[in-house]
Amino acid sequence: IDFGFSQVPLNEKVKKVKSVFDSVADNYDLMNDVMSLGIHRLWKQQTIALSGVRPGMTVLDLAGGTGDLSLAMAKKVGKTGTVVLADINESMLRVGRDRLIDAGVGSQVKFNVANAEALSFPDNHFDVVTMAFGLRNVTHKDQALAEIYRVLKPGGQALILEFSKVHSPLLSPVYDVYSFKILPKMGKLIAKDEASYQYLAESIRMHPDQDTLKQMMLDAGFDRATYMNMTGGIVALHRGWKF
Ligand code: SAM
Repeated sequence: IDFGFSQVPLNEKVKKVKSVFDSVADNYDLMNDVMSLGIHRLWKQQTIALSGVRPGMTVLDLAGGTGDLSLAMAKKVGKTGTVVLADINESMLRVGRDRLIDAGVGSQVKFNVANAEALSFPDNHFDVVTMAFGLRNVTHKDQALAEIYRVLKPGGQALILEFSKVHSPLLSPVYDVYSFKILPKMGKLIAKDEASYQYLAESIRMHPDQDTLKQMMLDAGFDRATYMNMTGGIVALHRGWKF
């Protein structure tokens, strides 16, 4: 496996994001379960259910990290299909590779070190591109969205799962306390890493809301974009089509 990390040029924000995910990689799956009370599994299941991934398809799991979506999609594409698990962070990819090989789907999955802002894949290559909890870490989101559109086949769709704006007035203050006060403390306690989980809360707050992201997708070239809220808008699943 050639991670080829040195080929990816790193700017300052990218370096910071890299160091965050270098330090969380080993605890990432455990922390995901603990911090979301396991609900991230439901968000991801729903994403897969709506993805339309079928046997034989070629799909990209961008910013795929430790490979939750890759694993589910590898089972769906079967032996005749291919999943590319792409991430800018070598530590996350290594954890993902080990998991997928252990799960017996290693032969259907290719691993690629990639900056979402500048993908090395050809135009019109993938039936489906997923990006779960990755876009908010990207500096030039417009470039990443344009790249996703470029590598999709005509008729293909992108699914972007990301934290978003809570719309319930009851849930909103509870969620703010949780993400800004409790979450970094849990990061400190369990992963011994308060700063990375502080970054997580801040990056969630800075991320564009549902309608802004939908418009960004249209501006990046998508022919159609929609979104659905999950868990009161804590996360939203945006879908974009290339016709
Ligand atoms: N998709 C996985 C999931 O849902 O569990 C991982 C999500 S994790 C919160 C975010 C991932 O985005 C990290 O693995 C990180 O390395 C990756 N990432 C951050 N910036 C990126 C970029 N510019 N290009 C590609 N991946 C990036």
